[in-house]
Amino acid sequence: MTSKSAAAAARATVYGYPRQGPNRELKKAIEGYWKGRVTADALRATATELRADNWRQLAEAGIHEVPTGDFSYYDHVLDTTVMVGAIPARHRAAVESDALDGYFAMARGTQEVAPLEMTKWFDTNYHYLVPELGPDTAFTANPVKQVTELKEALALGLTARPVLLGPVTYLLLAKPAPGVPAGFEPLTLLDRLLPVYAKVLAKLRAAGAEWVQLDEPALVQDRTPAELNAAARAYRELGTLPDRPKLLVASYFDRLGEALPVLAKAPVEGLALDFTEAAAANLDALAAVGGLPGKRLVAGVVNGRNIWINDLSKSLSTLGTLLGLAGQVDVAASCSLLHVPLDAAAEKDIEPQILRWLAFAKQKTTEIVTLTKGLAQGTDSIAAELAANRADLASRAASPITRDPAVRTRAEAITDADTRRAQPYSERATAQRAHLGLPLLPTTTIGSFPQTAELRAARADLRAGRIDTAGYEERIKAEIQEVISFQEKAGLDVLVHGEAERNDMVQYFAEQLTGYLATRHGWVQSYGTRYVRPPVLAGDISRPEPMTVRWTAYAQSLTERPVKGMLTGPVTMLAWSFVRDDQPLADTARQVALALRDEVNDLEAAGTAVIQVDEPALRETLPLRAADRPAYLAWATESFRLTTSGVRPGTQIHTHMCYAEFGDIVQAIDDLDADVISLEAARSHMQVAHELAAHGYPREAGPGVYDIHSPRVPSTDEAAELLRTGLKAIPAERLWVNPDCGLKTRGWPETRTSLENLVAAARTVRGEL
Ligand code: GLN
Ligand code: ZN
Repeated sequence: MTSKSAAAAARATVYGYPRQGPNRELKKAIEGYWKGRVTADALRATATELRADNWRQLAEAGIHEVPTGDFSYYDHVLDTTVMVGAIPARHRAAVESDALDGYFAMARGTQEVAPLEMTKWFDTNYHYLVPELGPDTAFTANPVKQVTELKEALALGLTARPVLLGPVTYLLLAKPAPGVPAGFEPLTLLDRLLPVYAKVLAKLRAAGAEWVQLDEPALVQDRTPAELNAAARAYRELGTLPDRPKLLVASYFDRLGEALPVLAKAPVEGLALDFTEAAAANLDALAAVGGLPGKRLVAGVVNGRNIWINDLSKSLSTLGTLLGLAGQVDVAASCSLLHVPLDAAAEKDIEPQILRWLAFAKQKTTEIVTLTKGLAQGTDSIAAELAANRADLASRAASPITRDPAVRTRAEAITDADTRRAQPYSERATAQRAHLGLPLLPTTTIGSFPQTAELRAARADLRAGRIDTAGYEERIKAEIQEVISFQEKAGLDVLVHGEAERNDMVQYFAEQLTGYLATRHGWVQSYGTRYVRPPVLAGDISRPEPMTVRWTAYAQSLTERPVKGMLTGPVTMLAWSFVRDDQPLADTARQVALALRDEVNDLEAAGTAVIQVDEPALRETLPLRAADRPAYLAWATESFRLTTSGVRPGTQIHTHMCYAEFGDIVQAIDDLDADVISLEAARSHMQVAHELAAHGYPREAGPGVYDIHSPRVPSTDEAAELLRTGLKAIPAERLWVNPDCGLKTRGWPETRTSLENLVAAARTVRGEL
């Protein structure tokens, strides 16, 4: 095909669409089903209708080929587990007695059985259920869902392409089932899994699929030669099946790197590649392998992970380059649109001019269609769209929201000295000991206390105008009094105010910082029926006034003991928001850090001697490729230090991290130069304490001795035993006693007893020193 005829043949597609419906109908139906208020049939009917609505919308917008099978009641990795029959032994009875209830049992557990583990989907905020495999796993093909959904779309008269998670990524995402030795590598099951995929493909072919998409995002991560060989083998085998649909192997979230030549050589008909900024290297790499002559290239030029409008001219030029590199070039978002909210037009509170800069799933679909038209029929055919897009991009670039001279001048003036505390830790420790007068093995908590129904009701009352601000603040103050008085009675050493006023640790700050936008309907699936509304880092960030000082100072006024100030760090503020795409993340982080630095300094000026800056997201934002990590860690740790190094030596800076293994970022933890770090550790028996010790971590640390993810109350003995384990790695002068994380999801009764036991454990172990 010539490039001209290749252009004419260009088609528009997407890999997946938000599942929940315009008013979160799916969430409501599923949760209703769990509570017994919605029947299984009604739930199925809602789901069928939502799928049909999505397909119709996509087709009406001009998408030529719609995806099927991307819909899920909970998670598409769990759907794949069902499709290949890899049901863990403990869930088999439930699945056999009722497929739907068994499915939810795997997702959420029941009274009797634990659910599958849940973890983050690559570097997104979506969580999937981890397949549990072992040498005894027997796969069977069970593509009922995939075939049904394909037939539904075909019945609507649409061209449809089933989207499956590919076999290599499926295995690479799996972990050894309970009881299987940790050294077991799920990828060794590939030869057993491929025949099952072959059957699934044959069934989809028989049901009318011309193409099937196999997603292999795990191939954008660093892979060993053995793993790359496995990928080569997988696609050689699937590609040479006699009766199969055409195969489109999809990658996203980063560049394919050394997996690109492997897939380019495979006997499949098409590849889908990410061509957004993060994966820009794909373009040269594709040219370097000689392109994909005679094959279909699906070009992910519209960013599927952010909420900004596309630069259409730039994308057209990328697409133009790609035309010379493949037999057919189609246009798509870089990944499933699952990761963005549904419709920017639903945001009635955002200024119309700013709204024009935003593209959610619906708007991205339109961009894909426009680009396809421009590619197929020439740029003249989309002249009006290009002009409007240029105007919107220009208005964003020139807006005072985007560029605040005061913020920029200040950011440019940052020196290295601003990012370092004046004294080394050893001197600070002496000053802090004198200033704080804490016992050995000091006890503290991570910040939040139970977010009770009353607190949520108070917020709802305020929003609905049933109470005024003064009335709301009275309720928060009453809560703070209770939290402080409990901590004093329990005998904790460093107190917290309890975070009663915070709806969420990022949103609370985003609402108070200039340059951040909130959405009303910008829901994105985090896991299952849990949806979050990430705020948008839209412009230059500044802090018009102190954000937390009042509450911390109020709490401090109630007690003689030190009350810890509590902030969310810059990296976490970025990680749990939609970020700007018009400047490096490092620049945005620096602006947020400067705003937080002012807050830290104001807290100190108001008499706060201990200030904690939480960075639970430091580890999860780590780039997928090792080569990109040093640069990330450099700006991430620098922005933390910029936030925290404006204080006197006697002021103690804490940080906190959770949800992860930290083994590979101990150096970065060290580079934060925080005086004290609290970490999640209870479930791993203080493993992190040993990792810190092995590294020679020189400062104070509080590996958690109370697993707050469960209502279970740890006994004094248990907590004491964990402390003794901690003491083997960290000397008593530097060991803190605290829970794994904040207590906001816990109830008061178990919180009380658990913290009393934690204090008792500290006293017991102090007595043994
Ligand atoms: N300070 C926060 C809290 O206690 C920390 C939460 C977190 O680490 N996710 O709730
Ligand atoms: Zn935490």
